[in-house]
Amino acid sequence: MKTINHFVNGKSFTGNSKKVGKVFNPATGEQSAEVRLASTKDVNEAIANAKNAFESWSNKPPLQRARIMFKFKELIEKKSDELTKIIVSEHGKVYEDAKGSLTRGLEVVEYACGIPQMLKGEFTENVGTNVDSWSVRQPLGVCAGITPFNFPAMVPMWMFPMAIACGNTFVLKPSEKDPSCSIRLAELLKEAGLPDGVLNVVNGDKEAVDALINSKDVVAMSFVGSTPIAKYIYENCAKNEKRVQALGGAKNHCVVMPDCDLDQAVNGLMGAAYGSAGERCMAQSVAVAVGGIGDKLVSSLAKKVEALKVGPGMDKQSEMGPLVTKEHLEKVKSYVDIGEKEGAKLVVDGRNFKIQGYEKGYYIGGCLFDHVTKDMRIYKEEIFGPVLSVVRAKDFDEALQLVNDHEFGNGVSIFTRDGDSGRTFSNRAKIGMVGINIPIPVPMAFHSFGGWKRSLFGDQHMHGPEGVRFYTKLKTITSRWPSGLRSDPEFVMPTMK
Ligand code: NAD
Repeated sequence: MKTINHFVNGKSFTGNSKKVGKVFNPATGEQSAEVRLASTKDVNEAIANAKNAFESWSNKPPLQRARIMFKFKELIEKKSDELTKIIVSEHGKVYEDAKGSLTRGLEVVEYACGIPQMLKGEFTENVGTNVDSWSVRQPLGVCAGITPFNFPAMVPMWMFPMAIACGNTFVLKPSEKDPSCSIRLAELLKEAGLPDGVLNVVNGDKEAVDALINSKDVVAMSFVGSTPIAKYIYENCAKNEKRVQALGGAKNHCVVMPDCDLDQAVNGLMGAAYGSAGERCMAQSVAVAVGGIGDKLVSSLAKKVEALKVGPGMDKQSEMGPLVTKEHLEKVKSYVDIGEKEGAKLVVDGRNFKIQGYEKGYYIGGCLFDHVTKDMRIYKEEIFGPVLSVVRAKDFDEALQLVNDHEFGNGVSIFTRDGDSGRTFSNRAKIGMVGINIPIPVPMAFHSFGGWKRSLFGDQHMHGPEGVRFYTKLKTITSRWPSGLRSDPEFVMPTMK
């Protein structure tokens, strides 16, 4: 059985922990590896190496750091097929989707290549007579990142390329369910010229997470995962005086207006609800049918959900792969049971889906509920599977109210042909990322990604300009050089003359 180690100080690291986790291939249900789960001591070893590496790395000119990012970008492109296959084999999503997610991570690396421009700072000559003032952004120190299973390449790449390009060193704790991609990325970054200790990867569970939270040497924490853990991370990092951004779960709505192009809306919803088997934080799990469009929407969706091609991620025919683990499959199925009990109409039931030759894989067919109401658990809670709930709303205002009353605020979209509806919606939705006739409005790398309400604890989004702000601290310097004039001591608040 293959064992997945940590990656510390530029090499594979076994650590002293005896704990291991199991890694499965979701397509077959077979165990593919075991992964070491770090002890507190192992994590502290990684932090110590990151701390050691900080002084020299943070003093490297930004251009030199950027050159390493350029090489890293080339290596990811060269190894794209290998990395994509790693994602498919441990996560389960279909090959082209996995490749797309890798590309979205690569785009953050491309953005990080421009770090010299982003760290330039601001300068004012003569803020007072013969006095100049300028602001610079300096790196923080050792930063940490904790990531979820659903984007094993993209989400870690939202974090470490930005942190490292800004001059920080980093300890990443990826999901123990699909850890191999992070390790491979760290190896490639070393090959690109990154000094040892700048990026370290520790695999682990709660013990490793707590070790990162409790370490005084970790000064900033980025987290992406479910809301209860995001809240835990936010509160405990704050207690330990760290800056923190903790992105949580979601229940993204798609508002379908009666005037929309229905084909466009249905196709958009199919990809956004069932792509990656619904295991995306930007997946659309609620369609709000406005006015009289509900029946047409549901019958068009039902045909397509029934025709979904579900199969192993490496099969080119598959549109949707398996779920990540057996436990997660059981959880998603139990939500479908709950929805039925709650009185929602189950229009398409994917619970009994089976595929010949892959009987032990974690498959479920697409599920579609109609007449879901806002008091039901299947509406309120994140299912994180291929289950779409259709809610009926009488008009635009009721639809907007639903969106704004929901505890989550990650993404939302509206399908309409009316500019006024689109504009009013984007203006009034209490949501971090809004799409108008765009089903999954994930911001590009040079913008920033993040939700509102209980989808993000903290105030800085990931990557883009917010990423630079998160991974640097501001210093403002004011200076006057002796000019022959001498002044007497002043005991009043200085004002510029
Ligand atoms: P998760 O919260 O279970 O795990 C995320 C990370 O936290 C993992 O590294 C895991 O090892 C660690 N963790 C788990 N339990 C912990 C505990 N009790 N104490 C400390 N650490 C713990 O999330 P997941 O199942 O891996 O991922 C799915 C979730 O992530 C969904 O809720 C999804 O919406 C969310 N997500 C959000 C975004 C976003 O941008 N908002 C993006 C991707 C995923």
